[in-house]
This record gives sequence, C-alpha cells and structure tokens, in this order.
Amino acid sequence: MSQLYTDIFSLYRQTRAAMKGVKDWERFQVFAREQWLPPEELEQIRLERLKRLLTRASTFSPFYKERLAPHKQRIEHMTTLDELSALPLLTRDDLQQHAESILCEDATDVQPDASGGSTGNPVNFYHSREYREFGGGLHLLFLSWLGVRSGDPTAVFWGADRDFKDYSRRERLMQRLARVKLLNSFDIDDSTMDAFLDELVAFQPVYIYGYASSLHQAATRILTDPERWPIRPLAIRSSAEMLYPHQREAIEQAFKAPVVNFYGSREINNLAAECPHRQGLHVMASGRVIEIVDQSGTALPSGETGYIAVTDLSETAFPFIRYLIGDMGSLSEEPCTCGRAYPLLRKVVGRSSDIITVGGKQIHGEFFTHLFYGHPEIKQFQVVQVAADRLIVKIVSDRENPDLTFVTRGIHARTGEDVAVAIERVDAIETTASGKYRFTVNRMTTRSGEHS
Ligand SMILES: [Zn+2]
Repeated sequence: MSQLYTDIFSLYRQTRAAMKGVKDWERFQVFAREQWLPPEELEQIRLERLKRLLTRASTFSPFYKERLAPHKQRIEHMTTLDELSALPLLTRDDLQQHAESILCEDATDVQPDASGGSTGNPVNFYHSREYREFGGGLHLLFLSWLGVRSGDPTAVFWGADRDFKDYSRRERLMQRLARVKLLNSFDIDDSTMDAFLDELVAFQPVYIYGYASSLHQAATRILTDPERWPIRPLAIRSSAEMLYPHQREAIEQAFKAPVVNFYGSREINNLAAECPHRQGLHVMASGRVIEIVDQSGTALPSGETGYIAVTDLSETAFPFIRYLIGDMGSLSEEPCTCGRAYPLLRKVVGRSSDIITVGGKQIHGEFFTHLFYGHPEIKQFQVVQVAADRLIVKIVSDRENPDLTFVTRGIHARTGEDVAVAIERVDAIETTASGKYRFTVNRMTTRSGEHS
C-alpha cells in the first residue's frame, strides 16, 4: 500500500512538473547518465556549461560585464575547466554591495533570497528558474544514491522559522500528501522531542534529514529507551553543520540506518554529498564546480586545505562564479569505489556554531542567522552567551545609527523577556586561528577557542 502510494505520488509530481514546464526530472535523467561517464567526457560537458554561463553573465549581467571584460579572450578560448581559476572570485562583500547588478537584465522568473551563511554576515541574492531546476535535478540524483524517492515518507529536523511560518495552506496540504513531518529544531525540550519521536514510530519515515546537532539530540533521546522508539528509515541525511564522528555513530545506532553527510548552502544548494560508500563527499559535478583556493584566489592542489569557491554551472540569471562561500575544505584525488566520475571533497570545515541555552531553552545557532535575514545594514554579527541569562550581540554595520530594536525583540520573542540582551557595536568580529567566523559562542560550554 505504502509503495503504491509512493508510486502514485511520484507520478503525480512528475506529471505536475511536466505540465508546469519544470525540468527537474529531465535534469535528473541527464545527470544520472553523466555520473557514470569517463572523467574526460564529463569534463567536456562541464566545460561547455561553464562557457555558456560565462557568456551569458558577461552579456547580460551589468556586474559581470564589467568584471569579466578583461577576460573576454580567455573565456572564448577556454579548453579546460582549470582555466576558471584565472577569473576573479565573488565574495560575500560583492553580494552585499552588488546583488542588483549581478542579476542579468534578461532575468524573468527569479526569487529574492537571503542568507546568514556560516560566517555571520548576511547576504542577499536571487535564485533563477535555471538554478532551481539544476538544484532539483541534482537533489533527485542524490536521493537516488540512497534508494529514496520523492514522495517517500520523510521526517525533518530543521530549524527555519521563516520557512515554517510562510507555509501556505496549500503547501501544508502538499506536505501532508507528500508525507513530510517536520520538527522545528530551533527550540526543543524533552517533551516536544518525545512527542515527535512517538509520532515517527507510527509514521515510520523512509528518509530522515536534518541538522547534525538536532539528529544527534534525537538519537541521544532514543538511546535512553530504544524499545520505545523503533524508527527504521532507509537512510539519514545530515546537513547544514559539521557532522562529528561521535554524532554519526549515535545516530546510526539509534535509527539502525546509514548517515550520509551532505553539503549545501542557502546561496547554492546541492554542492556535494556522500554516496552510501561514504569515502568523501562527491562534488555534484554536473551542476557545480568546487575549487579550493588560497587567499589570493589561486587554486590549491588536491589534498591541501583552503577556501571553498563554488561555481553554479546552470545557465542562471544570477551567476555565482567562483563564489567564496565561507567554508574551508580539501579535494581528494582518489576516486570513490562506487565508480562515479564525480570527484570527492575530502572534508568541509566551517559551519561552526555553539548552541545557546537561555530561558530554559536550547536555541540553535542558525536561529540567529535567520534573525538577521533581510537586514543588509548588518555586515556581521556574533552572539555570545556570557551567563545563564545574558547574551551579548556584537554587530558590525557601516551605518551610523542602524535600527537594532528588531534584534532584542526577536531574541526575546524566542527566550522570554528575562534574558538580558546587550548590543555592542564593534568594528570587526575576531576570527578563529584558522580564519573562520563563529556566529554564536557559548562561553559557558566552549572549552577552547577553536571548533571546526
Ligand atoms: Zn561514491
């Protein structure tokens, strides 16, 4: 019965997508073929995509028209993907200042979005239809690696306040039809967690995904009484945060299913993911180029750790070309034993946030990045917990007197009014030894200055 429902729902989605002209499924079928190609053939396909992207960007985007002008010859005669590294990087600062002029003049179907990223300085950008279709196709490909299909019962441990509030009635109905159960991880106590886990026992999700820390929290709870919560998914995806080995172990033990690590971001989704062989994260190479670069933008050889620069290969109306996403990592030269041509990203560091515990509630670090969405006047922020009921919010802004009342109001709405919130204007937020920002710091739990 359940399988039949999945088949029908998946067919319904494909038909609906086809009727609306959405090409996720078509893209998926192309990518599914490409993943097994010999590396040289895949490289040629990616090069063609890159050249189309660069041509579109330098023709229709006012920002890139200017920035890529000195590289026109090079772009026309590009013969390898490596030549991409001669082009300028795109920084978060560029997004903060030039989002409007990065957008192509011929853009039609675009949606504005914003991100706190992992670095604590919010940025604004647009997502185009081409981007969404590529991302959709790549995601279907990733699910196929796990044996999961769109329409399978899914449980989500996520923390996007804005995403939850904005669900329309129609979307909620779609979620029910699509059989998705969500737990808002921004504030969980034992009783909400228990109630959700009880629900999942009856629901039996085939697929579970969420923040590493939230999945770990659920697993820890389950392991206190495994008999009460026999939840048996096919696979679990951990994303948005670093997945530590002890977390993976506990999650796999609690759910008796493999946990695969997934790397995506709000700016560019579906960047890299583990296949069930779990030897590193496959770069979703049909749609993304990931370079590891030093501070000047020079590409580093495989094995060396540096800044991650991402290029979105969809012929998008909002081009991300060599975007410094704020994380660090290293590429591997070894192929995965699964045989896929997609190269491996050995590790991703960054995405570091401490959990803040005030007013009797655990507040996920991502809550604060969401709080600053849509406030371009805030260049950077850092929330520091200094006592059980006291937070300091450090803010970098280039405005003389930005209106910051939303900060205290937003935090109090979550924690209650008893928590003291002090706002401090600073010139810069100090980084850790490896040059990363941490957007939340819990002085009450942090043992040393460095996390990865
Ligand atoms: Zn693999």
